[in-house]
Amino acid sequence: MIRRDFLFGAAAFAGIAAVSWRHPNWLGLGAGPGPVSSSRNSSSNENAKPGQVTIVQFDDAGKKLSVVTIAKVVKTDAEWRAQLTANQYDITRRADTEMAFTGEGYNRHDKGLYRCVCCANALYSSDTKYDSGTGWPSFWAPIAKENVVDRGDNSLMMSRTEVTCTLCDAHLGHVFDDGPQPTGMRYCMNAAAMHFIPAKV
Ligand SMILES: [Zn+2]
Repeated sequence: MIRRDFLFGAAAFAGIAAVSWRHPNWLGLGAGPGPVSSSRNSSSNENAKPGQVTIVQFDDAGKKLSVVTIAKVVKTDAEWRAQLTANQYDITRRADTEMAFTGEGYNRHDKGLYRCVCCANALYSSDTKYDSGTGWPSFWAPIAKENVVDRGDNSLMMSRTEVTCTLCDAHLGHVFDDGPQPTGMRYCMNAAAMHFIPAKV
């Protein structure tokens, strides 16, 4: 009896240990120093049906309007090509990266709102933009965590965290953990993936 309990206990413990051991992998942790890897998926929502996502809507002045669950923006390759410039298409739909210090307004410090060039989803406010010295527009936080998705990206033999638009899956850039406070994050974006709307003075 004692022995059986012990065996059962040992098996249960082994099961817990196995789960615990695997847990860091689910979270994408354990990679040590370097870019933060996260499995957070902002598009997941209990109320969202397949093909739907939850985002926060903002007006052009950057004022928060409401949280909505709506259908994802899905277009064919031909439709994206027709809507976007070749450069915008390569970056947002093919995960290309623009050359540093070349993106229009990479060094812009005007007040305003940055929207997705593909679907107009609000992405960043100039309030969180800072000069990272990298030659890419950099922010320490998105305008709403729901509006972008961070996911692991092991392309180009590097472990990075890709940032995409929740509403249309556009590739926007990558996020790293060497940014300034208060978040310590650096959302390193392609200027060509965003449309800037200057604040009215
Ligand atoms: Zn988008």
